[in-house]
Amino acid sequence: MFNNGRLTLARQRRRLTGKALAERSGLAPDTISRLENGLHAPDEATVERLARALHFPTDFFFISDTPSIDTGAVSFRSFSKMSARERDAAIAAGALGLQLNNWVEARFGLPNPNLIDLSYETSPEAAAHMLRQHWGLGEKPIGNLLGLLECHGVRVFSLSENTASVNAFSFWQDSKPYVFLNNFKTAESSVFDTAHELGHLIMHRHGDPKGVRAFEREADSFASSFLMPAADVKARVPSFVTVDVVLLAKKRWRVSAMAMAYRLRSLNILSEWTYKSICIELSKRGYRSGEPNGMARESSVVWRKILMDLWSRRITKEDIANELSLPIDELEGLIWNLVGPMDRPAKQEGGLRAVV
Ligand SMILES: [Zn+2]
Repeated sequence: MFNNGRLTLARQRRRLTGKALAERSGLAPDTISRLENGLHAPDEATVERLARALHFPTDFFFISDTPSIDTGAVSFRSFSKMSARERDAAIAAGALGLQLNNWVEARFGLPNPNLIDLSYETSPEAAAHMLRQHWGLGEKPIGNLLGLLECHGVRVFSLSENTASVNAFSFWQDSKPYVFLNNFKTAESSVFDTAHELGHLIMHRHGDPKGVRAFEREADSFASSFLMPAADVKARVPSFVTVDVVLLAKKRWRVSAMAMAYRLRSLNILSEWTYKSICIELSKRGYRSGEPNGMARESSVVWRKILMDLWSRRITKEDIANELSLPIDELEGLIWNLVGPMDRPAKQEGGLRAVV
């Protein structure tokens, strides 16, 4: 049976309107809309045309279930910069991520979710402190946030290039937390995005009573507090702060120079005037548009283990893509940049004994 929901999913993933797909496949726009609405079933030649136009394997359209995300629960980092097509493409990537996750969970024991529900908490600073306590982190900087989230059961995926204008998003599905990260940004920005989405997952699990803007501010504030705990920052940063102090500090807490300066301002370690002049100097040195001499990108601990295990059994990414009836570029996009070079010997990775 042809699955019309999967036709819509593939079209949205490829950022095409119905009209554009009609042109690309040589079918009438009306035919596309009737097919997507399930009003009639396509013949074999039509399916092949659609598959070719969309660069999806024909089998993809004959899988009975259609993974879908409750879009009301999706927290997007920046709604304003996104067109409807970009948003749909990102949500479609999320749906394919769910499908991949189900495949993985049927074969590997992933860590159970260990997040707390802090939706009642109105202070992001307090929420960040409570989550650190819950995870036994104390006040010290976090060495690999991505790996930490994975150890606590968050399913992390990447967003591939055709959703480059989306920063990140997260959602809960079947009591499991998911984070999708845009790995085209600097490593420092990715860490902040990860912490921002973590804030959404624990503070905004039940929807949106305060409005998107309040949520965005809270998630940013959570990220800042979680990555740079007040007590540690106050104990370490000297009272006379220069740009060079900010640049040293940002290395310790693994954030961007701008995020570090902002945190120092919000903790009143910097006056408004000094904060502004430091921002101007940082801009001059290239820290507004990028992160000169930035840190190495964080990598996934779980995906690395999974791929190494599969490769040891001679199961390649192509095999996984075939089993899921996914184009290889989609599968690679979902884990792109999450796994570092695979030829190094695996480091000791604690807390992941659940992965077998
Ligand atoms: Zn957000």
